[in-house]
Amino acid sequence: MPETAPSPDAPASTPHQRVLVTGGAGFLGSHLCDRLVAQGHDVICLDNFFTSQKTNVAHLLGQRNFELIRHDVTEPITLEVDRIYNMACPASPVHYQYNPIKTMKVSVMGSINLLGMAKRTGARILQASTSEVYGDPTPEHHPQTESYRGNVNPIGVRACYDEGKRAAETLFFDYWRSNGVDIRVVRIFNTYGPRMHPFDGRVVTNFIVQALRGEDITLYGDGSQTRSFCYVDDLVDVIMAMMEHGGNAGGDPETFVGPVNIGNPGEFTIRQLAEKVIELTGSSSKLVELPLPKDDPLQRKPDISLAKEKLGWEPRVPLADGLQRTIAYFRSVDLGSFRKPTD
Ligand code: NAD
Ligand code: UDP
Repeated sequence: MPETAPSPDAPASTPHQRVLVTGGAGFLGSHLCDRLVAQGHDVICLDNFFTSQKTNVAHLLGQRNFELIRHDVTEPITLEVDRIYNMACPASPVHYQYNPIKTMKVSVMGSINLLGMAKRTGARILQASTSEVYGDPTPEHHPQTESYRGNVNPIGVRACYDEGKRAAETLFFDYWRSNGVDIRVVRIFNTYGPRMHPFDGRVVTNFIVQALRGEDITLYGDGSQTRSFCYVDDLVDVIMAMMEHGGNAGGDPETFVGPVNIGNPGEFTIRQLAEKVIELTGSSSKLVELPLPKDDPLQRKPDISLAKEKLGWEPRVPLADGLQRTIAYFRSVDLGSFRKPTD
């Protein structure tokens, strides 16, 4: 028997599984590992620790049903599993632009290696895709539905991530059509919560860390661009629901495989986010405006009708609650102990 009691959230019909989580030591991956371990599955967390540290999963290391492997997904690996969550990829602009060629390789070569594993073992495989496949949406495609094909600059500074993730989606759908691989694809919109890397440069971490240190809050541009922010617990719920939704997509062409938008449709300007963080931290930090990075999308908000219809899911955690939990986390950690992958 596993040492952890199955969580009350565990679907009764989900049998015991051997689950691989690539990028499992990262922000989203580590929360996913927590839930899978609590449900009693045998979890293999695979990570090269490019943007994460072992502390995110250190509490799981003693569990009988948890294993940690240091490995780079651009290299092949042989494992026997029933489920693969492909979360490995640097996710923040600062991280994915540090070595853009490697970023593209992670999405393309990583997907090829893991799809090959899924083909050999018959495992079901889920791809963590992204809202970035929509690029900078035009106003008539706001909010974004899954049928929107996007507006991505293929030679811009964000292309290594956006086009890499688009290529990964292509690979997933071709392995499904050509080889009957049992795929699922989710397009994740901005997600935040405890265990984000404090120096990943993403807006939620930057603003909270700046507010806690009493430093200026850096608005890029005038802060009128918008994003929608989903709390990590809501996101893990829907990723797992999508993985377990329907039958074997390789054998049943009617199974819903995605892509499906997942995120919180509440839309905020970046200035509103900054003001909320100042209010919740009680900080005396001031807002300053810096140049807007190149190709920065002006508006982003998911249409989650499909996730509601197919998975019966919608996010539950309001922004203020999620920010409070995230602020509590950043107050509790020693910021000086974090290694910056870009140093
Ligand atoms: P993260 O940086 O915290 O986690 C990514 C993990 O992947 C890290 O642990 C990193 O060390 C690992 N990794 C990177 N390259 C690797 C490689 N070559 N081999 C093995 N491991 C590698 O980021 P996150 O926010 O947890 O994102 C997880 C996934 O979700 C990513 O694929 C990302 O593109 C996707 N996603 C996240 C968001 C979000 O808002 N958090 C939005 C859209 C998509
Ligand atoms: N942003 C900002 N100040 C910061 C960091 C980010 O104004 O210190 C802006 C950024 O320009 C973008 C938004 O916040 O418009 C979200 O940025 P993030 O890097 O978190 O994610 P992404 O652009 O990939 O959605």
